Amino acid sequence: MQITHEHQSLYDTTKRFIEEQINPNSKEWERDGIFPAREVFKKMGDLGLLGIAKPESVGGLGLDYGYQLMFAEALGHCNVGGIPMAIGVQTDMATPALARFGSDYLKENFLKPAVAGDMVAAIAVSEPGAGSDVAGIKTTARREGDEYVISGQKMWITNGTQADWACVLCNTGDSPEGGRHGNKSLIVVPLDTKGVDRRTKLDKLGQRSSDTAIIFFDDVRVPARNLIGSEGKGFTYQMQQFQEERLFLSASIVQAMDNCISETATYTRQRNAFGQSILDNQFVQFRLSELKTEVEALRALIYRAADDMLAGQDVTLMASMAKLKAGKLGREVPDACLQFWGGQGFMWDNFVAQMYRDLRLHAIGGGADEIMLGIISKRLGFGGKKKA
Ligand SMILES: Cc1cc2nc3c(=O)[nH]c(=O)nc-3n(C[C@H](O)[C@H](O)[C@H](O)COP(=O)(O)OP(=O)(O)OC[C@H]3O[C@@H](n4cnc5c(N)ncnc54)[C@H](O)[C@@H]3O)c2cc1C
Repeated sequence: MQITHEHQSLYDTTKRFIEEQINPNSKEWERDGIFPAREVFKKMGDLGLLGIAKPESVGGLGLDYGYQLMFAEALGHCNVGGIPMAIGVQTDMATPALARFGSDYLKENFLKPAVAGDMVAAIAVSEPGAGSDVAGIKTTARREGDEYVISGQKMWITNGTQADWACVLCNTGDSPEGGRHGNKSLIVVPLDTKGVDRRTKLDKLGQRSSDTAIIFFDDVRVPARNLIGSEGKGFTYQMQQFQEERLFLSASIVQAMDNCISETATYTRQRNAFGQSILDNQFVQFRLSELKTEVEALRALIYRAADDMLAGQDVTLMASMAKLKAGKLGREVPDACLQFWGGQGFMWDNFVAQMYRDLRLHAIGGGADEIMLGIISKRLGFGGKKKA
């Protein structure tokens, strides 16, 4: 991907927003276990940052995916991992299928306000009994006249306590002969609807400024026109939507890992032991150089996937590889850097410690490393998972 002056300008705008509006407040939000999504998103919406690649008809900037990727990369300047995650849900996880397949009614009433920052969105796929195995979800949406009646439970939902609406994956029929995929649908559910209970905010190891909820649906009635696209196509739509999610998750941590490495170099340069700086040890230099090389290799892989996306090609293989690599580096980089900070690295407020906690999620959320390996194996013809 060629980075142009225009890409750089969008990157700089995003970075400035983070430095002025997010980083000064993030520690307080981490302590509170939540951030004011409505307030932050409104400011971002006013700058056009929530709809970079969304069409102008819904208030977006109508730019291509390369700009969306620049935005994701710039979010890596956040000094906590929870805020990029919450923003990514709004821009790259809950809204791509709606933008691609939603009716004019849905776009006007849910996508447009999400792009403007007037509504907070969530994506609700995972359940207590089905995370990796998406096809195993149990939430049902029963058609009754002009409505769907939704019952079930969704687990670990980012933005869950604050969101105005969620893009919910439901079973809209019995499993058709020979598969568990053709009976699923994506439905937009306003979360103030009677029967929705999302009071249970989860206590997490990291990403604490982002609220994560269990959402219960007890005979929740929504208009049938809240269905995204066609009934029975939800699994396919979600698999497509996952590619944007996975590329976002990968791109949004590249800068954070870069920062771990550069801050560690700065610290170890001025910290002395045995008559020399810690950085004077060749082992430390080599390790940091190796990590930086790995991070640059990840960046190149993400750009390769972005090129495929811009060319209108299927990005499943490249996005899965990028997500796998990001999940692994998200553990390796903060862990290795933390070691070189010694006791100081073990302190709660240390930036590297923050990333050690926050980036751990990337090997699990949006499809665990092992799920990525399964997809890659299958795509490469090495076998992969047998059909259910
Ligand atoms: C902070 C946070 C935010 C989240 N936000 C959202 C959200 O907004 N919306 C949403 O829908 N979900 C969300 N999730 C859920 C997340 O996507 C799931 O946790 C993830 O997909 C893994 O599912 P699981 O936890 O059920 O793990 P399981 O499916 O129980 O798997 C557990 C582990 O088993 C291993 N494993 C699983 N399958 C295989 C296999 N085939 N081969 C080898 N090993 C395997 C993997 O190591 C995996 O990590 C979030 C999770 C967290 C922690």
